[in-house]
Amino acid sequence: VDTDVDAAGGTAQRLLEVLQMPLRAAGLDVAAHASIGLRVAVDGDTPQQLMRDADIALFAAKSAGKNRFETFDPEMGERATRRLTLKADLRDAWRRSEISVLYQPIVHIETGLLRGAEALVRWTHPQFGTVSPVEFIPLAEETGVIVSLGLAILKEACRNAVTWCATSSFSYISVNVSPVQLAADGFLEAVDRVLHETGLAPAQLLLEVTEGVLLANFDAAVRVLQALRDRGIRTAIDDFGTGYSSLSYAQHLPVDLVKIDRAFTLEVESASSVIPAIMQIAAVLGVGVVAEGIENPGLAAALLALGCDLGQGYLYSPPVPAASLAEIISIGPIAAVGTPRAPSEPIRRSPSHERPAETGPSDLPSSLALPNDTRVRDVLP
Ligand code: C2E
Ligand code: MG
Ligand code: MG
Repeated sequence: VDTDVDAAGGTAQRLLEVLQMPLRAAGLDVAAHASIGLRVAVDGDTPQQLMRDADIALFAAKSAGKNRFETFDPEMGERATRRLTLKADLRDAWRRSEISVLYQPIVHIETGLLRGAEALVRWTHPQFGTVSPVEFIPLAEETGVIVSLGLAILKEACRNAVTWCATSSFSYISVNVSPVQLAADGFLEAVDRVLHETGLAPAQLLLEVTEGVLLANFDAAVRVLQALRDRGIRTAIDDFGTGYSSLSYAQHLPVDLVKIDRAFTLEVESASSVIPAIMQIAAVLGVGVVAEGIENPGLAAALLALGCDLGQGYLYSPPVPAASLAEIISIGPIAAVGTPRAPSEPIRRSPSHERPAETGPSDLPSSLALPNDTRVRDVLP
């Protein structure tokens, strides 16, 4: 079509509007929603190039919420190429040992004792370097690779946790599970097999799911969560309160813990903090609470004062390789707050409240409160 980008956009917009007008069919009003990708041709373009780029723009329109049009720009092309490359390379990434599992300590805030750790994955891509799970987990979900990848991560985390659980206060490993994994055939049997093969006790495993797990099929998700609970495996709602889903769902969920999102933790000292409300909801539901993203002692003290016992964050340690976690466990308590502070008391500050690098535990704050041989089991209710 002989036109320019503005006129093409105008036509695309009109098309979307026309398609949206309800049609009456078999006594029902039916409306179609569309997404449109535009690519302005220049001299020398091949039809293949035009179609490919229009497709990329179409994908961008769908990702941006559908029922809209997007015009191709070269940056879109780079992003799409990266996506496609990552998607294709994911298939063999675990086998090629490019994906590693790091572990972030989960700490009893008052005593600084290590209670457990969360397994968090990293991908070192040969071309793009470190790729965050925030980018590649959704791609693994789209291709279905998450099912085998998630299982490999689970197995490795459980194998390591067996050793750690044999030492003093460490009592569980927390592993993130994607909704796609939870919904896949044979998920429960696969978890059973991992526990059997590694020798980890069900009570030493905690699986984290996000609220998104409930969106597709609430009843099926509840059945799987209940089946996990029946086995003695604990479950947590990750990023609690960020999923925009109704609170009424929480009442019917067989979960043991909620994890407070970092965004809420950062605001815990403000007057409008929602954490007191989350603590109340958790108490009513009879579930435990773990705060994420504790970056300084002030946040830890404020959380403890509100009754939140457990937390994780850069104050204690970034996610580290398995060998470093073993070292952290052997060092003993980290950045204990001590008894909850009275409102007038100044907060004790730890020397390292800056974001540590994701390396070893060399710059970890050492124990501030309890002797190294104090066990969490002696302290926890
Ligand atoms: P999440 O499960 O909510 O994990 C917490 C994220 O916060 C992690 O990011 C962690 O590195 C980061 N974090 C921890 N402490 C602090 C802190 O004090 N400050 C700040 N700014 N950040 C902190 P990460 O490792 O990039 O993981 C992001 C998300 O990717 C995870 O969020 C989880 O949803 C997903 N993910 C990670 N590993 C896996 C996995 O093995 N399977 C699945 N399905 N998802 C995973
Ligand atoms: Mg998590
Ligand atoms: Mg989270």
